[in-house]
Amino acid sequence: MYCAWLAVSLPQEKYTIMALRKKTCIVVGSGLAGLYTACMLAKHSKVLLLTKEDIDESNSFHAQGGIAAVTEDDDSPLEHFDDTVEAGRGLCDEEAVKVLTEEAPARIEEVIDWGMKFDTRNGHLELGLEGGHHHHRILHAGGDATGKNITLFMIGQVLKRQPDIQILSNEEALKLLVDKEGCKGVVCYNHKHHSPDFIYGDEVILATGGVGALFSRTTNPPTATGSGIAMAYEAGAEIRDMEFIQFHPTAVYMEGKEAFLVSEAVRGEGARLYNINGERFMYGKYPLAELEPRDVVARQIFLEMRKTKSPYVNLTLDHLDSEMIRHRFPNIFKYCADNGIDMTQRIPVAPAAHYTVGGITTDLRGRTNIAHLYAVGEVASTGLMGANRLASNSLIECLVFGKRVADDILRNDDMRNEYAYNSFELGKEIEQPDFDLGKLLMENAGIIRCEEELQQALDAIDNQLERYKAEDLSLLSWREKHKLTAAKIIVASALQRKESRGGHYRSDYPKQQDEWQKHTVVKKEK
Ligand SMILES: Cc1cc2nc3c(=O)[nH]c(=O)nc-3n(C[C@H](O)[C@H](O)[C@H](O)COP(=O)(O)OP(=O)(O)OC[C@H]3O[C@@H](n4cnc5c(N)ncnc54)[C@H](O)[C@@H]3O)c2cc1C
Repeated sequence: MYCAWLAVSLPQEKYTIMALRKKTCIVVGSGLAGLYTACMLAKHSKVLLLTKEDIDESNSFHAQGGIAAVTEDDDSPLEHFDDTVEAGRGLCDEEAVKVLTEEAPARIEEVIDWGMKFDTRNGHLELGLEGGHHHHRILHAGGDATGKNITLFMIGQVLKRQPDIQILSNEEALKLLVDKEGCKGVVCYNHKHHSPDFIYGDEVILATGGVGALFSRTTNPPTATGSGIAMAYEAGAEIRDMEFIQFHPTAVYMEGKEAFLVSEAVRGEGARLYNINGERFMYGKYPLAELEPRDVVARQIFLEMRKTKSPYVNLTLDHLDSEMIRHRFPNIFKYCADNGIDMTQRIPVAPAAHYTVGGITTDLRGRTNIAHLYAVGEVASTGLMGANRLASNSLIECLVFGKRVADDILRNDDMRNEYAYNSFELGKEIEQPDFDLGKLLMENAGIIRCEEELQQALDAIDNQLERYKAEDLSLLSWREKHKLTAAKIIVASALQRKESRGGHYRSDYPKQQDEWQKHTVVKKEK
């Protein structure tokens, strides 16, 4: 018989306990991975979908360019596989890539069947080209508003599946509850009641996204601080390949302003990169010119900025059809226009932290090394991305692996039948010292790294972490501790890897080395 309990509302004497009939799955995070996994679980289990802000706040919502999948006869999963493996620089788990590229078309067909509308021309899907892809295979929706369109669509699907899915927004996960049988729930901070909630379930699925917002210059919204990775690490999960941070080459540069993304698809349509001296620095130097994989383009831009002592380079579009640009990129066009930039001419751009390639190690069903704890989407490391992500492979990863997680969970009726209440107290505020983690990461663990600067960063982070040892921390102190923990994992991983590969470049070890064709693994010593 299915039986599970949900206990909410501390203080402890106010616990309410509800007996539920189906297996209870806790999905943490409402990006595409969380929303879609919740939908796939809904029919056969009770789903509690937790998210720390409103349901539509996520990286997924901000995605622009599109979602990669083979949908035309002149393309094939094998070619998508080859492009993914090439971008991954020898570190892709080929089984994971095979899963993604072979299962992507079915996931796309399914969401189209559900009613999702991708952009079409003359009745056919309109397919974009992005860096590292040798085929037009990027589906998009609303031009450059793919993330917004697919996220809002999936929120609609979640709402349709109520009450099987219960949405708990403004619930910020602080700690995983793990006993000898595995993960049994999450302690959250409830932003409506301003108190902690204990939420128990049979399975916990982390879909909390990446760490981009830890860096001072980032395309990510402020929610992407790596708290899922920090919580999993604290609970004993294995974390892998966190040195590989993808810096997007082209984010708008305006002093003091956010790094608004200029999608890869803009270069896919023919935009060119020039340094401020008017030199087209990618062309003639690299076979794919502006469409080389992101690490190559970002590093070259960084070097050109250094050479010309300029905080930006120019992305020029004045040779392209301005009507086409307006139609294809309405969001970027509007953002630029609102900020006094004419996108049809040129945009000042510089790289920004964009995507977390590593994450919580999972197998091909999203299982971590902790029983009943799954990870999916950007928070997970399936091995699919290798050392660098191929453009537009992440939204599709959320769908392909979201289904696999749900299938694995529904395959068995492994129920937890007893939960011990844990004690958890919110406590003191740790005085915030004058410490700028974002700047430290950008400068010492950014696009180009070296031993000395990484070691300085690690020492500084360790120093700060000393202050957060107590268990009874305030909400702000928990957040700070998570950020420092995730940052420490990035820096420690970058120090370990004594070579350059994909999203990790060391000026003191500038070559890729065969002996480093392996993963870096970080795990908390008990
Ligand atoms: C500007 C931008 C453009 C992009 N463009 C593309 C693109 O065109 N194509 C593509 O494939 N990829 C793109 N990406 C990458 C892609 O958007 C992400 O990799 C993908 O959306 C990740 O989805 P996710 O569900 O794993 O995580 P997210 O979408 O980041 O969702 C994470 C969720 O977890 C919640 N959360 C985090 N911590 C907690 C906590 N402690 N407690 C409760 N909730 C928590 C967050 O609030 C959020 O709801 C882009 C990314 C950005 C930032």
